[in-house]
Amino acid sequence: MSSRTEPSFRESVDLMFNRAVKLMDLPPGLEEKIRVCNATYTVRFGVRLRGSMHTFVGYRSVHSEHMEPVKGGIRYATGVNQDEVEALAALMTYKCALVEAPFGGSKGGLCIDPREYEEHELELITRRFAYELAKRDLINPSQNVPAPDMGTGEREMAWIADQYARMNTTDINAKACVTGKPLNAGGIAGRVEATGRGVQYALREFFRYEEDKAAAGLTGKLDGKRVIVQGLGNVGYHAAKFLSEEDGSLITGIIERDGGLFSADGLDVEAVRNWIVKHGGVSGYPDAQYMEDGSVLLEEECDILIPAALEGVINLSNAERVKAPLIIEAANGPVTAGADEILRDKGCVIIPDMYANAGGVTVSYFEWVKNLSHIRFGRMQRRQEEARHQLVIDELQRLDDVLGNTWSMSPDFKDKYLKGAGELELVRSGLDDTMRAAYQSMREVWHSRDDVTDLRTAAYLVSIDKVAKSYHAKGL
Ligand code: GLU
Repeated sequence: MSSRTEPSFRESVDLMFNRAVKLMDLPPGLEEKIRVCNATYTVRFGVRLRGSMHTFVGYRSVHSEHMEPVKGGIRYATGVNQDEVEALAALMTYKCALVEAPFGGSKGGLCIDPREYEEHELELITRRFAYELAKRDLINPSQNVPAPDMGTGEREMAWIADQYARMNTTDINAKACVTGKPLNAGGIAGRVEATGRGVQYALREFFRYEEDKAAAGLTGKLDGKRVIVQGLGNVGYHAAKFLSEEDGSLITGIIERDGGLFSADGLDVEAVRNWIVKHGGVSGYPDAQYMEDGSVLLEEECDILIPAALEGVINLSNAERVKAPLIIEAANGPVTAGADEILRDKGCVIIPDMYANAGGVTVSYFEWVKNLSHIRFGRMQRRQEEARHQLVIDELQRLDDVLGNTWSMSPDFKDKYLKGAGELELVRSGLDDTMRAAYQSMREVWHSRDDVTDLRTAAYLVSIDKVAKSYHAKGL
């Protein structure tokens, strides 16, 4: 164990930023301007519940307004604090720049354990928090657009959207004030699973490059790779589900709040998820080895480790013992700056958070555009596309007749080819394209510069450069 002390989450993000920015040639002062958080608003508000007044503490931090609106989720957790919200807001700035979502970075949080409240109480609390933020334009379609994060989801986003609409009755773009809403309240198909889907697309892209796999000492495809997932919440669950069901990966370990499950043959993600929903944890799940201290699984042999829960889970106290050759940061900040250094020295490849979990904000961007354009993606084109494809099918059929039925179309070709893209297909296509392009921009820096030896530094270089250029364009 190292005698070094662990910095705070925000300091950790700053240390990683500093490491990258040293390799750049930014004008004096700009480096500091980009690093610092512009403003953090703290609110304390009271809500009458169960016959008495309860006071809640919430934050909304704006890291960078080089583009507006600023974007980032709202987290409900007891550990929420200013340092954390600012670190997360900074990561949003870099994340949006990297995947070219035209936003600045922001983040919000409420110190609350949502499991301690009934649904109608959570609604009162959420609406009051939204009111406090909206009246200061910290929720606003053109200035600040929240989204789900840990402890929040579609339900909370629908309450926020409704609260904003009640306060701004003539704003035709009111729905665009928040993303991650349910489909029937102005949401978009594919947003719920977007972050997990993004993790899958990120890994698929990584596995397309022999050189990159070799850096982690891996070969072959995702098929059969042993994966350990920490946190089976929205992000971890979808990533694990897609990787096992669609790419043939083996989910050998799942770490949850109350312990860990291990099975060398691979766990049934859906069955584990159902067990958690029914029993409140993984303990007692029949088809695996259970361990009360789930964190030991972070140190277990595997090919890919996916931390998908809290920040700082891989730190100075355990980094040395982590054996995974490849870590993909589905959570924000799961590896501390100190652990990052230890892992790099060991030759571990880390696909960094600002890229790996950017699927969520990417699809949020699509939702925001959908709300502003007031039309579902694909609504105008789908049938027209199908009609044009029908022409090709008819022509192939005619050829077949002319040639005397000497060949035939493969059985499912017609059905697949005829189906025009709906919103979900378009969202997936846009997300896949985004994840591929962003990965390519990082790897290009990673492989072309001798002074860049890891993907995180490469990611920072790409995104800081974009933020700097947009400041420059504004004449700053
Ligand atoms: N909370 C998510 C994140 O950390 C999503 C943010 C968004 O969609 O704006 O990226």
